[in-house]
Amino acid sequence: MATKAEVLDFIRIYADKMAEHRQELTDYDQAIGDGDHGINMSRGFKAVMEKLPTVEEKNIDDILKAVGMTLVSTVGGASGPLYGTAFMKAGAAVKGKEELSNEDILLALDEAVGGIQFRGKAVEGEKTILDSMIPAINAIKASLADGQTMAEALVAGETAAWNGVEYTKTIIATKGRASYLGERSIGHQDPGATSMAYAFQAINEVAQK
Ligand code: ADP
Ligand code: MG
Ligand code: MG
Repeated sequence: MATKAEVLDFIRIYADKMAEHRQELTDYDQAIGDGDHGINMSRGFKAVMEKLPTVEEKNIDDILKAVGMTLVSTVGGASGPLYGTAFMKAGAAVKGKEELSNEDILLALDEAVGGIQFRGKAVEGEKTILDSMIPAINAIKASLADGQTMAEALVAGETAAWNGVEYTKTIIATKGRASYLGERSIGHQDPGATSMAYAFQAINEVAQK
């Protein structure tokens, strides 16, 4: 279960994290891309924070859609349309909701993955955002199926997300700019998988409050 206040809290905490880890994410992208991932994400979420006061009285779906549209319109590069679509799809999945059930949360996460895959045509194992996101969602589902609470499941989700980030060090990038490096991308962690792991960290922090 998540209230609108918790959804807003998640967005604010994630925006803080993108500012805080701007250099770190950029450094990862420097190694295998064009060195702008932290710049892109922090710029996008700075714009989101400016937009948020104008939509925070609306339903959760409108808030998530506004986040997505802001990201698409302010972030150049792969991550803007990918994260933007994820937030827009998550919003569309919870239309009219002022509060989210566990089922709503899972649906929103699944739709977000679907949006990223529709846009980017990637599957797991290509060294992308999906390599932390899909394992995190699978872990959350497995924990809930095991009878754990959502708060417990989100702890497992974050752990799986960081394990996914570690896994990206071992594989070759076959999508995005890092794919130009081929085998030389091995040994480096994927910036997008890392920024997505911070999203699950932010969700988890909200749930543990
Ligand atoms: P750009 O590569 O255009 O400079 P960013 O640096 O902001 O954009 O984002 C790079 C990240 O985007 C990569 O680390 C990767 O995780 C993610 N990414 C790139 N292409 C795809 C894709 N097709 N599907 C999913 N994620 C992708
Ligand atoms: Mg880049
Ligand atoms: Mg770029």
